[in-house]
Amino acid sequence: MKYWGEYKIRIARTILGQESTIQNLSYYRNQLFYHIILYTLAFSPIAIIPGIIASYRTGFYNLLLLNILTLLVLVVLGFVKPIKIETRKLILIANLFIISWALLYNLKLEGPGLMYLFTVTIVTCLIYSGKIAYKLILINSFILVLLGLNIEYQWLQIPITNNQDTTTWFGIVVNLIFLSIIIVACFDIIFKKLEKIIIQQRQLNETINQDNQKMIDAQKVLKDKNEELNQFAHTISHDLKEPLRSMQAFAHLTISKYKESIPEKGQEFLTHIQTASERMALLLDSLLEYSQIGKGKEKSEFSVKEIVKELEKDLSQLIQENGAEIEHKNLPKIVGYEIEFKQLLQNLIANAIKFKREEENIEVKINAKEKDEHWEFLVSDNGIGIDPKHQEKIFTIFHRLHKNRFPGTGLGLANCKKIVEIHGGNIWVDSLPEEGSTFYFTISKNLKTAKNG
Ligand code: ADP
Repeated sequence: MKYWGEYKIRIARTILGQESTIQNLSYYRNQLFYHIILYTLAFSPIAIIPGIIASYRTGFYNLLLLNILTLLVLVVLGFVKPIKIETRKLILIANLFIISWALLYNLKLEGPGLMYLFTVTIVTCLIYSGKIAYKLILINSFILVLLGLNIEYQWLQIPITNNQDTTTWFGIVVNLIFLSIIIVACFDIIFKKLEKIIIQQRQLNETINQDNQKMIDAQKVLKDKNEELNQFAHTISHDLKEPLRSMQAFAHLTISKYKESIPEKGQEFLTHIQTASERMALLLDSLLEYSQIGKGKEKSEFSVKEIVKELEKDLSQLIQENGAEIEHKNLPKIVGYEIEFKQLLQNLIANAIKFKREEENIEVKINAKEKDEHWEFLVSDNGIGIDPKHQEKIFTIFHRLHKNRFPGTGLGLANCKKIVEIHGGNIWVDSLPEEGSTFYFTISKNLKTAKNG
């Protein structure tokens, strides 16, 4: 086995050299040629040595010489380096061609000459080209027809045509030519189709590679942009707080110190400034919180059921005031960022209670399903629902639908989306106006290896 392996490597290096891995039709033809030489060289003694003995015994010394020459040619093709692969192929074809005719000439139709003649056209078609194979068939046909005519008209005395019958000769020859043409034509069609497939596959691979690269680049840009955005949101919310605080303080001071001297309208305006700055402070805090999601947090294993129970306590006042019923089942233990996960559920439950329909008792259901790669959670309510045209936008920062009816900052669902994303998941909603909403989100089961976005 070891010698066979070394032999294979040596022949491959001699014949194929440093062939590129670009796989086209000539790559496969070269591979075929390499394998033909590999096996013929290894097993040729089985055919050639008995051939040499038989030629010696029967006195066909020219065949004996040809057998030895063939062996030498095979050794040269397999082991001598500085010859181009196309030249090697031509040498093999020429050698086979000469052997065929020498066998035919010496051993007539009864010998293996015709079989060799047939083989040489097929080998040519396989390792070289269909066109050359057709040319070979033409040359062979021409010679065979001439020999056939020689049988009929006895122009020359040559051993191959001696004592032959013209009808038998043409019968055999026509069959041989016919079979050669059919086989070469079939191989040629297959090769052309194969070439087409190889080209298409290469183009497809190139497109896939380009698309993959584009996707990787886009993901990198997106990650950088997200990072930039987070940094920006953090700086803005942090830096704006200071002047905002001064604004609030001075508005307060002005009202308390100069209340008497400011007309009623002015006082009203100042109160507006105070309310607006309070809301701005709330927005800035929410933005700061948003920019900090997932930063430097540790993952751990925790029970979602326990988290929901804690939330029922934390939100007990809201739940009682609104007479909400919370039902949960199948809640698993998962690995994730516990504080963020709790915030995610809290936002969804609080929204389910907040966006209620006046006449309905609030029912909130929390459920989980195990999938192959992730957990799928749902939080559903029987509230006001969401028009399908807004269902994607509500997950973006500051996007709110019922500004005048319900209080809020428009950051709750954006937070949820970011939290789900750091858990390697997705979030979406299924809802119709006035028919309640079901928020779904997934949490990857492979968080130990998932990247913290
Ligand atoms: P906020 O609650 O502060 O307005 P959110 O980001 O939490 O902001 O939600 C964005 C918008 O999505 C809300 O303004 C509301 O219109 C809609 N929404 C969120 N949850 C629900 C829900 N459970 N039912 C109906 N509408 C909802």
